[in-house]
Amino acid sequence: MKTEIIKLNPDNIYTEKIDYAANVLKSGGLVAFPTETVYGLGADATNENAVKKIFTAKGRPSDNPLIVHISNKNDVERLVSRIPSSAFRLMDKFWPGPLTLIMEKSRIIPHVITAGLSTVAIRMPSHPVALALIERSGLPVAAPSANTSGKPSPTNAKHVIDDLYGKVDVIIDAGSCGVGLESTVLDITTEPPVILRPGGVTYEQLKEVLGSVDTDPALFSKDFMNATPKSPGMKYKHYSPKAEVIIIKGKSEKVAGRINKMAEELRLNGLKVGILATEQTKALYRDAEIISAGDREHLETIASNLFKALREFDKRGVDVILAESVENSGIGLAIMNRLNKAAGYNIIEV
Ligand code: AMP
Ligand code: MG
Repeated sequence: MKTEIIKLNPDNIYTEKIDYAANVLKSGGLVAFPTETVYGLGADATNENAVKKIFTAKGRPSDNPLIVHISNKNDVERLVSRIPSSAFRLMDKFWPGPLTLIMEKSRIIPHVITAGLSTVAIRMPSHPVALALIERSGLPVAAPSANTSGKPSPTNAKHVIDDLYGKVDVIIDAGSCGVGLESTVLDITTEPPVILRPGGVTYEQLKEVLGSVDTDPALFSKDFMNATPKSPGMKYKHYSPKAEVIIIKGKSEKVAGRINKMAEELRLNGLKVGILATEQTKALYRDAEIISAGDREHLETIASNLFKALREFDKRGVDVILAESVENSGIGLAIMNRLNKAAGYNIIEV
């Protein structure tokens, strides 16, 4: 398939270019586009054949449902059969933005989107290009992350091109995404609502609005992933570079010592080692491919760079990535969720 790449400046969007991509969506094609979280791979959510093409292009298992993206809060009404009262407070506070809400679906949502579930996941993104594209198409747009299934999500158009060139109709290149991790997925069909995937909107922010919010036990342990999780995406190994990832967790002085020791042993075994460090710790390491994910005092910088760093290690041909951990609060909960899954829960406590 021929893939067209359309360059856009998010501060100065050409309507003709957006209309061109919107028409590709309307005629059942696939368009990769930037959102504030990661790049998405979009199709007309009401067109079953178009949605099926997403699964093929990504190699995504058909039992992993998709998020439907809208450009206007009022669009929720026709996509769901019931709007819980908490939805209005959440939409007011966090939309447009990185929060996905799970509600009971209406009849216009085809089963291929929800993988047969009676619920649908909906989000209104805040990226100006995403909003313009959805609005000009006049459609609800089904869009998972625009990567090959299982790989780290794409946070710039180059990542999308690496994974999907030749498999989709259009890739819109509008630079890097801000948040860098996927949206928070919140099931509001239950009381209290449950976080199925931590993301750009934090547990603490949700608690402030809802009073009480639960987290799915599958978020914290791989043992729970084997039970039937509420969010089917949870059960897959995910966000994984080719290299094996090992997380080293504990007091920072000890972590660096252990990482240096492990790196030396791995090197002696003929393996190429990558170290995922931070601005505060990068100088503690030597003789390895060292990448700083960001600033520990500003965890959002680490969120923003994490997937890019994991992809960069693969480019450098690293065999094993030794990764520092971060605290499990605020956006740190989402960072550790992605890192734990990238590592297949291979964690060493020191
Ligand atoms: P992605 O779009 O690749 O970031 O993945 C979307 C995520 O949303 C997956 O982890 C899905 O399991 C989750 N999701 C989508 N629809 C539903 C739903 N109806 N119920 C629970 N989780 C969902
Ligand atoms: Mg994904």
